Amino acid sequence: MYYPSYRMRRLRQSPSLRRLLRETSLSVDDLVLPLIVTHGENVREPIAGMPGCFLYSIGTLLDEVRQAYEVGLRALLLYGVPSHRDIGASAAYDAEGTVQMAVKAIKDELPDMVLITDVCVCAYTDQGHCGVYQDDEVLNDVTIEVLAKVAISHAEAGADIVAPSDMMDGRVAAIRSALDDEGLFDTVLMPVASGFASGFYEPFTAAVGTRPVVGDQLTYMVDPANGEEAVREALLDIEEGADIIMIQPALPCLDVIRTVKQDTRFPLAAHSVSGEYSMLKAVAERGWLDEQRVVTEVATAVKRAGADLIITSYAKDLARWLG
Ligand SMILES: [Zn+2]
Repeated sequence: MYYPSYRMRRLRQSPSLRRLLRETSLSVDDLVLPLIVTHGENVREPIAGMPGCFLYSIGTLLDEVRQAYEVGLRALLLYGVPSHRDIGASAAYDAEGTVQMAVKAIKDELPDMVLITDVCVCAYTDQGHCGVYQDDEVLNDVTIEVLAKVAISHAEAGADIVAPSDMMDGRVAAIRSALDDEGLFDTVLMPVASGFASGFYEPFTAAVGTRPVVGDQLTYMVDPANGEEAVREALLDIEEGADIIMIQPALPCLDVIRTVKQDTRFPLAAHSVSGEYSMLKAVAERGWLDEQRVVTEVATAVKRAGADLIITSYAKDLARWLG
């Protein structure tokens, strides 16, 4: 079969034919909207570098959640900013903490909204590391005990899915067994399995105050140069009891998304992180690219690579554009 007997353009000749043969389709069902909830009242603080994104207190968060629900979104990923930080991240597992109270408030009003909660300590300690930091070290085994408490507190508040993003070793197994010990068998575990030490977290990090005060994240996150290691992380998390695998960032990791999907056949969530949003927003604001077109193209590429779910601050826009 060679030119001209096989002509690629034959299948592209009409919109209906192209529609019939399109390999990847995006849907509002694939999308998860990440939101940050903070303490206080009537807070709606713009996030630098992320036009259209805000830190919300519970009341204003509910307004945003209602809008998300109206455009068809049924899943949120919640991050929290506490009123106080300490060495052991105690506010992270406070039953009256910001995330726990937000989960209750949303579930009261919209019980069918799937709530995913970020489980980490970086926003809850003074040092900003994803693990408890003492004597110039991120303490792995101390951290996973704290994370288990955080996950239980979120599940008890009503979270459907807990999503540890810390990248400590053994935390998935520890959280699964802690949840099961409390009878929380149905709580879904969606760890950031392949979390890269990425520069693309910057706008979120600045907004939430999770930039490590000393040291860096390279002792627990994956070096952006290491694809094989990222796949091993995913396989390990599945062995430990993960139900859904999360990979972040998304766009710089399309190869990892593809390989992890092929090697595991597990549901896969790709988190298009804050800096990915900023990058697209900035070029769109300058008029250099067509925002709707490139945002849709990127989300389609992430899905085409192998993601089942896409977590993105563009979720509301995408839901509207997809109609
Ligand atoms: Zn963290």
